[in-house]
Amino acid sequence: MRSLIPSPEQAEILSLGPDSIRIRAGAGTGKTTTVAMVISNLITNHYVDPERILGITFTNKAASELADRVRSTITGIVDEGRQIEVHTYHGFAAQVLFEFGALVGVDNRVKVITPTFSRQILAETFDHTTYQHLDITNRMTLDRIRGLGDRLGDHLLEPGDLLGQEHPDDETWDNRNEMLQTLLRYSEDKRRLGVVDYADLVTLSTRIFRTHPGLAGEIRDRYQVVVLDEYQDTNPGQRVLLTTIFGEGFPVIAVGDEDQTIYEWRGASSENFELFPLHFRAAGGGPPQDRSLTLNRRSSQTILDVANEIRRKANPAAELLLTSDPEKEGQVITYWAGDALAEADWIARRFEELHDDGVPFSEMAVLFRKNKDFAVVVDAMARNGIPVEVANVGGLLSVPEVAELRSWLTVIERPENSAALVEILFGSRYRLGLADIAPLSLWVSAAEPVRDREEENPITLLEAIEDIDRITGIRDDARSALRHFLGLYRTVLTESQGMSLVETCRLILDRTRAWQDIEALPGATRLTARLNLHRLLDLAEDWSPLIGRPSLEAFLEYLGAMEDEPAEELDSAHLSGEDAVTLVTVHRAKGLEWDVVAIPAVTDQNFPSRARQHPDPDRFAEYLPVQNRIDTALADMPDDEAARQEYLKARNDIQEWRTAYVAATRARSLLMVTGAYWYGLPEPTIKAKKPSPLFELVESHPATHIAGHEVEPARPALLRRAPDAATPDPVFEQGWDGGLRLAMSDHEAMSRRASELGAGSEFDQRVDELVGRLFELAATEQIPQAPQDQRTVSVTGLVTYAQCPKRFYWSAVDPLPRGRSPSAVAGTELHRRIELHQRGQVPFEQFSEDLYDVPDEAAGDGGFNAFRDSRFAERRAALVEAPFELLAGDGYRVRGRIDAVYVDGRHWEVVDFKSGRPSTDPSRIVQLQSYAMAATDIDFGHPAPEELDATFAYLGGGLVEDTYRADAAWIEEARSDITTLIKSIDDKVFIETPGDWCHTCDFLRFCGPGKAWLAE
Ligand code: SF4
Repeated sequence: MRSLIPSPEQAEILSLGPDSIRIRAGAGTGKTTTVAMVISNLITNHYVDPERILGITFTNKAASELADRVRSTITGIVDEGRQIEVHTYHGFAAQVLFEFGALVGVDNRVKVITPTFSRQILAETFDHTTYQHLDITNRMTLDRIRGLGDRLGDHLLEPGDLLGQEHPDDETWDNRNEMLQTLLRYSEDKRRLGVVDYADLVTLSTRIFRTHPGLAGEIRDRYQVVVLDEYQDTNPGQRVLLTTIFGEGFPVIAVGDEDQTIYEWRGASSENFELFPLHFRAAGGGPPQDRSLTLNRRSSQTILDVANEIRRKANPAAELLLTSDPEKEGQVITYWAGDALAEADWIARRFEELHDDGVPFSEMAVLFRKNKDFAVVVDAMARNGIPVEVANVGGLLSVPEVAELRSWLTVIERPENSAALVEILFGSRYRLGLADIAPLSLWVSAAEPVRDREEENPITLLEAIEDIDRITGIRDDARSALRHFLGLYRTVLTESQGMSLVETCRLILDRTRAWQDIEALPGATRLTARLNLHRLLDLAEDWSPLIGRPSLEAFLEYLGAMEDEPAEELDSAHLSGEDAVTLVTVHRAKGLEWDVVAIPAVTDQNFPSRARQHPDPDRFAEYLPVQNRIDTALADMPDDEAARQEYLKARNDIQEWRTAYVAATRARSLLMVTGAYWYGLPEPTIKAKKPSPLFELVESHPATHIAGHEVEPARPALLRRAPDAATPDPVFEQGWDGGLRLAMSDHEAMSRRASELGAGSEFDQRVDELVGRLFELAATEQIPQAPQDQRTVSVTGLVTYAQCPKRFYWSAVDPLPRGRSPSAVAGTELHRRIELHQRGQVPFEQFSEDLYDVPDEAAGDGGFNAFRDSRFAERRAALVEAPFELLAGDGYRVRGRIDAVYVDGRHWEVVDFKSGRPSTDPSRIVQLQSYAMAATDIDFGHPAPEELDATFAYLGGGLVEDTYRADAAWIEEARSDITTLIKSIDDKVFIETPGDWCHTCDFLRFCGPGKAWLAE
């Protein structure tokens, strides 16, 4: 248990008891500790039941941390196993939908999809629709439509709400109407697939309470106090959902900091925190209490002085942060370099010196505003022998070993992708140059006219390599390198057939001998390569699609999307704990801290960043018209175009200053802010960069030490380290880079160069063909409708049916509202913790309880302790929460997730963790039967089992194992049992079968036989 001695500010909050309170918690002021204290105080001094405290926070990681902190705080105060209920905001809405969705026509088996899969579904809709106004050749169009869909959800709207309203007859609305039509079809597709997206969770949950007002009281009766963490990050729809349930004087404690609202660009409304006193009321009907935490327990006062000034730029009335330890030493340093390379080297050298002085690398971080600035720092760290851990996907792709793996994956999936192929050939393994592949390109050009132009697959560079023996003019070394590549490529392609995503990654690393090469690298570079490749492997393993196995194509698309925009990376980064410098974006650094923090590229328009476009609904169709918003955030936006742009720019600037405040307050003892004149890889920008207002603020602060401010050097020709060898180029005398520069500065230059080389007419012909193809893209087809197929049953459903067919009927066939099951919540939490233990990540689907487990009797925290002490915790499971869909019975599909699969050669053990004590209920075995069938029938990417065990691991009250040897006869019997169950479901046999399970049945109040059985 943590020692908790409240500060005067905290003591004052604790004295308020269970009432509505807004707590403004500045950065580093111990927000989570304060929340834990408040909860502990409510339990011990105000006799609030732990189970009747609802905690809601923003991300899975924050929810897990809050639950852990509260658990450790109340240990010893309450009986072991008692705990508060913690959800994410989306998770809470999902819980409501899961329970009462039937009231708004949503099946309680509905699955929640992540933004990646929502994009996939939308892409299919988008691909098959006719557009008159939207430019579908622009790859951003899909994201713009998705953005509009998210914004509709943030404001509890559906596409139809806007389609019916009056609007100006202009281009913006022409585009918006096509976007809305696309979103309407997307909604139909979601319904057909039985899925909802994040935005639907809040919209549908709110609709439930609006159409059934009595239900809000039912939810309120379950709790005595609600604690809303990170409240500044909620969107208007989430706020309405919460006020609909808890708005009338129910004790609501909201904790947050409007000056750390950095997610406005994705829907957060700082107005929620600001107007909390209007949205929620105190018990007596008056305004809630208002308190602040200003005592910072993290940083030195020097750093806080600078951070306070940054914060005042966003909020002139902000309260100043004061350190809790005035003796703590700290420093703020600025450095302005000649160019990005010198800047990155300067940071790397400082880190090296600090490490020599005893600061671990793991206590240092570089925080970036943009993904594009990672590469030069990754490179500088490598050259200076400093290991780095890149903690967000966009930046991860700038690590050379990860980039090479991505290129291999791309070529496996899309053999025609010559860019990825060239990256492999030009990389450190083959070291070829343009002159080496020029003969291949010429061969492709010569061969193309021979092949029918209408043929779907044009000739590729890869085909040229396959025909290398017929191509002349290739250096001997290059020829043998290309032959080696081809052999390797064929091997990987053949062996990767049928493999899972992560296994394909491992195969590539194995066959390309990447691990051996990495072992030969110097220490720091070796650790960097290893850490970041493992990070990508973890990503590939955790990444799972809506249906079936993760497809390589979708994964590559996901990586591309993450490179452009870290849209899904909302959780703060999860670090490995290795002694490596963390490289991460500021947004992902929220909630983390280090002794030393460097913030590079603090140049004008980079940080604070200039918005690519302001969210102007009059100009851009993807933004909601002001009158459709729930909040009043843009209510005072001017009509005049110029004034409106100024207004939106000012709003963007405020958010950027908040982001800078978050960045500066991550440092405990040393904050370094740097910039340079020249950026751009390899071509520098035309004009030198200037220090940004943020850099100027820090540099001019009296507390800052200026380590240097170089004079502006002449514009460098190229901004990159001298290449190992000049790359020859047969077309452009000044190399490929020179050719590119020429093409960008003079649009006629390529045509002239083609004429000089005697290829003018062919060049013109190819340009015409390309232009023609662009116009053909508009050809469209109707969306193919998949046959309606509802013949799917979950494993939980089968177990329920085996217990009592009527219960199954009311929960799955004609669903009735279901009561919340505390045991299901406890089971879900246990599984989440086991999963955390196994792979350190929690999937968003955590709240889909029936996918996790059959609800069990509560076991409390002891369940996890029993797991931790068991043989299962010692080994890493080959598969965790492995989803499957099994064909069984008469065309039925059985879907479920196996908690863990342990693979030892050809011996497999499928394990189902139970949060309760051993059960004698014979219907339980259906669960293991399904898992064993899945292990036998489905390719999970591991060699199929020759020996299979299926185990129930009961964790309530100490581990008890119940293992079955699933040999051929056992499996056959399992198959027959499940077929019998499915046949009964198909025959619509839904009779009441009372038993012990009636005690926990949600439908007891409707069920005469159940009541009678219990009465006896
Ligand atoms: S109360 Fe018992 S008999 Fe009735 S539906 Fe529920 S489990 Fe079946």
